[in-house]
Amino acid sequence: APDPTLRPEGLADDNDRALRPQELDAFIGQEEARANLKIFIASARQRGVAMDHTLFHGPPGLGKTTLAQIMARELGVNFRMTSGPVLAKAGDLAAILTNLEARDVLFIDEIHRLNPAVEEVLYPALEDFELDLVIGEGPAARTVRIELQPFTLVGATTRMGLLTTPLRDRFGIPTRLQFYTVDELHEIVTRNAIKLGAPSDSGGAREIAKRSRGTPRIAGRLLRRVVDFAIVEGDGRVTQEIADHALTRLGVDHLGLDGADRRYLRLIAEAYQGGPVGIETLSAALSESRDALEEVIEPFLLQQGLIQRTPRGRMLAQAAWTHLGMAAPQVRGG
Ligand code: ADP
Repeated sequence: APDPTLRPEGLADDNDRALRPQELDAFIGQEEARANLKIFIASARQRGVAMDHTLFHGPPGLGKTTLAQIMARELGVNFRMTSGPVLAKAGDLAAILTNLEARDVLFIDEIHRLNPAVEEVLYPALEDFELDLVIGEGPAARTVRIELQPFTLVGATTRMGLLTTPLRDRFGIPTRLQFYTVDELHEIVTRNAIKLGAPSDSGGAREIAKRSRGTPRIAGRLLRRVVDFAIVEGDGRVTQEIADHALTRLGVDHLGLDGADRRYLRLIAEAYQGGPVGIETLSAALSESRDALEEVIEPFLLQQGLIQRTPRGRMLAQAAWTHLGMAAPQVRGG
């Protein structure tokens, strides 16, 4: 079974917090997003207004929550955090909104999972900083309008396609986060190793960076495990040899794929001759939710060119056959 601590989903643990950069200048990568945010933050500050609503989208662990926290800090306002699935009723959201102070940042994670009734309440709040609440039931029901302090909503989603159009349209600053390059992750690992008190040499940091699936959260987790090996089996320093040994022991291969990724690829190769195969079929065969496949496993495999999405389902690309050390079946009639 894959080591659950290597998967990027799940709650951010306290460990995450220790490695979170606190200022925009300490945030590595996402150059374009960062440069733009810098301008928008400075402009909002100079005018003394709430910054425009911002939407971060991209795979888990790329820094959406971190950027939202940095925005609040640099704007000099409070940071409030909740998530789509947690807001069950309109009243839950109303309670949060009425407690915001002027220009605060409200962060809603997994915003594509908002209940429609809650989303309805959000529209006038975003547009006019007003809340229309229905009080009571039946013939006695009436609507009261509540004025809100101007605030900035920062939404995060791993599934841009699942956002309703009206919600998407209310974000003035939609920002897509990209997978990180090996150089960027190298820098992140090097800094984090220092924070963890186990300095890495360049080869060690690079080995972890190359095997982190373009994702800082995974880099952080892998680094912690490598540090464990460095302390117990080495002299405390993160070298390439220790990193390679530890990551191989953990089932993370040289592309950064782990057991779950390889199980996914091997299933398409062995049971479906490379596909195409539908996502529901894969989900059933792997006992993984469709969401987990689409949000966590597939984005990196697609980005690496290991799989393709076609109208008829998922297909292995040549690179995947090579990676699995298998021969692709002969194409019939071609
Ligand atoms: P998301 O909200 O997109 O799932 P997070 O913001 O929670 O991702 O980031 C996950 C982890 O990765 C955090 O521990 C954070 O410190 C780290 N991280 C993310 N982006 C960066 C970055 N650019 N530089 C350094 N660390 C980062």
